[in-house]
Amino acid sequence: MGLIKTKGIVIAAANSSDNDKVLTILTPDLGKISAFYRGAKKTKAAALNSSEYLSFSELVLYKSPNDNYSINSAEVIELFYNLRTDIDKLNYATTISKIIYDVTEENIPAYDVLQLFLNTLYVISETDKNLDLIFCVFRIRLLAILGFLPQVAKCVNCGMQMQEDMEEFFFSVKDDGVKCKTCAKLDKSVIRLSKTSFSALIYILSCDSKKLFSFEIPDEDLQELKLLSKIYTNQKLDKEYDIQKFNI
Ligand SMILES: [Zn+2]
Repeated sequence: MGLIKTKGIVIAAANSSDNDKVLTILTPDLGKISAFYRGAKKTKAAALNSSEYLSFSELVLYKSPNDNYSINSAEVIELFYNLRTDIDKLNYATTISKIIYDVTEENIPAYDVLQLFLNTLYVISETDKNLDLIFCVFRIRLLAILGFLPQVAKCVNCGMQMQEDMEEFFFSVKDDGVKCKTCAKLDKSVIRLSKTSFSALIYILSCDSKKLFSFEIPDEDLQELKLLSKIYTNQKLDKEYDIQKFNI
């Protein structure tokens, strides 16, 4: 019981009364929690900011004897301000945040998921990197963190070793990994990948988290990667996540 210091990002916010909010916050150590924030809507600037959707803050929480959290104090670390002024960036950030909401739970630590989430929001907010590429990288890396690591070194069916000098590769969504050309012919779920797309896939699955977004690929390869990340994510998370485009 008592006070707990942690950090967290607001992934959902609901008004509870004229002055108060109930926030859903992703923390590294406590997982996804719900916390009551008394006075969140008062005009005090610090409280306003730290209760905003997608703001990341240093938190002091109070845990009541019946296991409910309330926010004792909060100090903003990062607001990702540019997400709030660019509708395209906000659309991508919102979809990513929905995925994060669905894959996290209370009392299940979320260090790696939170780190990926923050890195992704940072790249969306602070750079002009292609948003579709960011979304692809996020989805594939998230699945890997959640334990869905596809086999990419050899054919999942016959065991044939993949070679760097091969011109094309075939990813089986059904069987979680790459297939050789012969085995791919019998699998309707395969997605063809160019050498560049396949290298990008391996990079996303295995690179240092700090360098996750440090690459570019030509548009035609990005289209393949988009298709793969979309179908693979929808299948593994059993839900469709698509970017909502608003026409304004
Ligand atoms: Zn094979």
